[in-house]
Amino acid sequence: VLLCDARDPGRATDAGAGIISHETNTRDASPWRTLARMAAEEYPTLARALEAEQPGDPGYGRIGMLVVAVDPDEAKLFDRYQSRLRAHGEGGSLLEVTAAEARDRFPALERVERALFDPGAARVDGRSFESALRAAAEGRGLETRRDRIEHLVVERDRVSAVETQHEAHSAAAIAICGGAWSARFGAQLGVELAVEPQRGQIAHLELVDTDTSGWSLLSGLHDHYMVPWPGGHVAVGATREDGSGFDARTTAAGVRQVLDQALRVAPGLANATLREVRVGLRPRTPDLLPLLGQIPGVRNAWVATGHGPTGLTLGPLSGRLIAACIGGEDPGVDLTPFRPDRPFVS
Ligand SMILES: Cc1cc2nc3c(=O)[nH]c(=O)nc-3n(C[C@H](O)[C@H](O)[C@H](O)COP(=O)(O)OP(=O)(O)OC[C@H]3O[C@@H](n4cnc5c(N)ncnc54)[C@H](O)[C@@H]3O)c2cc1C
Repeated sequence: VLLCDARDPGRATDAGAGIISHETNTRDASPWRTLARMAAEEYPTLARALEAEQPGDPGYGRIGMLVVAVDPDEAKLFDRYQSRLRAHGEGGSLLEVTAAEARDRFPALERVERALFDPGAARVDGRSFESALRAAAEGRGLETRRDRIEHLVVERDRVSAVETQHEAHSAAAIAICGGAWSARFGAQLGVELAVEPQRGQIAHLELVDTDTSGWSLLSGLHDHYMVPWPGGHVAVGATREDGSGFDARTTAAGVRQVLDQALRVAPGLANATLREVRVGLRPRTPDLLPLLGQIPGVRNAWVATGHGPTGLTLGPLSGRLIAACIGGEDPGVDLTPFRPDRPFVS
């Protein structure tokens, strides 16, 4: 297997926050829930397998997540939030905790009106996990090139080769996993791959002389969240900028938004050092479900993209499912809701 990855600026995997928590997610697309549950269940086994065969930490940890309301207005939304989770069959393992318990789990919090804790939530470092997966695959014969596929050679109903600027590679089968850039491949295959970039900016803070190793993930009620790492490191984000195009820049408004939200919820972060702002282009589809399956009309071309805001959660599972399909096996999951040629209601 040959992996060609151009590693463009704005590569989402390098910027993703890495929260894995379907229990606290209110989105109602049930096919997404089926995948997200399965993906979350498979992660620990995969992480242990990577840890067992390589030095270094692949960056996965089950550290639990708090969802907090920090003012009376948010407290009013809290019951509605819980009802929505229940309506989707979620929230069963969430525990309501006191303000003091919430502050124990995330000491930068000050005022807390209501708080829930999801003990099963995990976080993953996209950079470390992807590099561990790639090393494991290389150990099993994968070849990798940092190169851009410029052109797909299509002969009747098959892709016979892929071409970079420098060389051509014959292909028995191809899998398109180009993130936000994937639509360009669809154009060459005569199908529309409905994926667009959605920019996300996320700030990385460092709290000096603070042991964050026992902190939990934290989510507010308005999309923004915080991801603690050992060594005083806390990532806070993120913007969701539709219509951003492939403009992977840090902007003044983006940084202001993520810092405003972080300090509103957790004022104890105010004195942290701003180390870095990462920018990623989420591959977003109109219905927020991934595109997974065979390219219609092309016998040996497959796609696994469009994972939007939850691609670090779903990615390893999607890869396994599409690999099974290419190998002629039953993936064991109904991929119909994710067909790349499904109709999208705008
Ligand atoms: C700020 C932010 C926060 C996020 N938080 C979370 C989270 O908490 N939980 C979660 O589950 N997910 C999260 N995500 C989403 C997740 O990061 C993405 O869904 C996922 O990383 C997408 O992976 P991908 O491999 O499809 O795309 P990418 O990581 O973008 O990779 C696509 C790659 O394809 C390459 N490529 C494109 N075209 C070509 C070509 N022609 N030839 C060769 N290579 C090509 C690109 O250069 C790039 O390296 C977040 C994303 C962002 C930006």
